[in-house]
Amino acid sequence: MKTYTLSDFRIPAGKDIILEDEIARELHIPVSSFKVQKIVRKALDTRKKDYPVWVLTLQLEFYSSPPVHPALSEIQPLKIEAYTPILVHNPHPYIIGMGPAGLFCALAMVENGFKPWLFDKGDSLEERLIKVQDFWQKGILDENSNVQFGEGGAGTFSDGKLTSRRNDALTQRIYSELIKFGAPEEIAYEALPHLGTDGIQKIVKRIREYLITKGCKFHYRTPLTDIKLSEGKVSQVAFGNQWQEPEIIILALGNAARNTWKMLYEREIALAAKPFAIGFRIEQKQSDINRWIYGNESWSEILGPASYRLACKTGFTFCMCPGGNVILASSENNTVVTNGMSFSARKGIYGNSAIVTAVSAKDYGTGIWDGMNLQIDMETKAFHKGYLAPAQKADDFLQNKDSFVPLYSTCLPGIYPFNLNRFFPSSITSRLSSTLKYCNHIFPGFYTDAILVAPETRTSSPIKILRKEDYLSSLSASNLYPIGEGSGYSGGIISSAADGWRLGERFRIY
Ligand SMILES: Cc1cc2nc3c(=O)[nH]c(=O)nc-3n(C[C@H](O)[C@H](O)[C@H](O)COP(=O)(O)OP(=O)(O)OC[C@H]3O[C@@H](n4cnc5c(N)ncnc54)[C@H](O)[C@@H]3O)c2cc1C
Repeated sequence: MKTYTLSDFRIPAGKDIILEDEIARELHIPVSSFKVQKIVRKALDTRKKDYPVWVLTLQLEFYSSPPVHPALSEIQPLKIEAYTPILVHNPHPYIIGMGPAGLFCALAMVENGFKPWLFDKGDSLEERLIKVQDFWQKGILDENSNVQFGEGGAGTFSDGKLTSRRNDALTQRIYSELIKFGAPEEIAYEALPHLGTDGIQKIVKRIREYLITKGCKFHYRTPLTDIKLSEGKVSQVAFGNQWQEPEIIILALGNAARNTWKMLYEREIALAAKPFAIGFRIEQKQSDINRWIYGNESWSEILGPASYRLACKTGFTFCMCPGGNVILASSENNTVVTNGMSFSARKGIYGNSAIVTAVSAKDYGTGIWDGMNLQIDMETKAFHKGYLAPAQKADDFLQNKDSFVPLYSTCLPGIYPFNLNRFFPSSITSRLSSTLKYCNHIFPGFYTDAILVAPETRTSSPIKILRKEDYLSSLSASNLYPIGEGSGYSGGIISSAADGWRLGERFRIY
């Protein structure tokens, strides 16, 4: 048996075909001479309108010598990163943060016999669901437990997109772990896999249950508030007035950990400012999006609601939620932050996506907190009418005029009309306007009936907790390990989970 990869194998979408017959025809061999071992990747090519095509990479097993074909190649093993194990004595490392980075770090550690203790400032998933509903429905925000904070981390109320730009053994490992905890098998090969907020929540709960059976302890509503350093190590950590002495501390804080970054900075942990992106959500009818992408709206019945990703010199679209909702994702009192969320079925009649432009020291200054302060300024300014988001017709934004027609948005809990030209600094407004025009050039009508809802500020972390490239530990303390999005070294659910796993699998008990 010889196993080969067949790449760029194209089949028209929506047709009833037998895959093996098509492959046999393409390779000029009998169906009986090979077996499809697995789909490695499945992406949709929608460049030719009204003729979507699946582009597959397949793993095939041949019973005798494989045919010669330009798309057929020997399987290349996925890249596995080499590392030196980190030896520790105490089986209970402290993991601060129960988002994807923290949870997957714990999953990797229990494989080597550790029983990590996990801490989060927020509530358990079940309690957190109540807190988030209280926020959206009654405007009551819990600063410790909200859309950003609590068990499951920031992606718990998300579209659950599981995209990753990397195809290495580590990323595949994260997908197989997710499948083990109930995600559909397709996530391992689909180009745009997603779980929806309902799917993510189920998996978070199962991961917790599994980790508890492995001896892990979950400490909710337990924020890390302080640390003490001694001889290049963290000697003590505080949760309120409780001081403890763990052997190692893993920081999986997420991109909204402003108080904790400040505390770390005061304790002389090396941090640096990092560029990020800022902008607004655009909300459009999902039927329009389907038409732009597929050519004919009816394809969505077969292929599901369409999604887009566009980029130009001035900005890019980000975190598209087909058939989803715009949501308020504030984590601090009297601030407004937007984001997007959808359920696995993606059945809503609107789709939304962030339109953002990269911002760096040129926009906000060279001080370490300048980028974060720009976020805070935007979020505070938006809190003009309570927990409602400023919104405007995209057409009016481009013409710099107030929107007088009633505006509709799915935004939870709601919006108020505001001219967003008066909201962003003029250089950012101009870049966002150019980006909108570029998108309209690609998909004519892109903004005609669209609503913009602001501000989208938490695209990635504005701060990096500097770490040693080889050891993954903080530059300032050898037993402090920053991981995930709050460390500034990852972005998104999958890459943060992978960053957590990469660290977790290195530890060994001696
Ligand atoms: C609404 C929304 C939708 C999103 N949609 C997607 C998507 O579809 N796909 C995608 O890839 N990404 C999405 N993201 C981004 C994604 O959620 C993050 O990239 C990912 O969660 C980062 O993982 P993390 O573990 O590094 O940090 P987080 O998930 O942010 O977890 C950090 C945890 O640390 C805790 N914490 C912080 N400070 C302390 C402290 N001092 N003490 C104790 N605990 C602390 C927080 O409470 C939090 O639970 C979305 C984010 C949001 C907010």
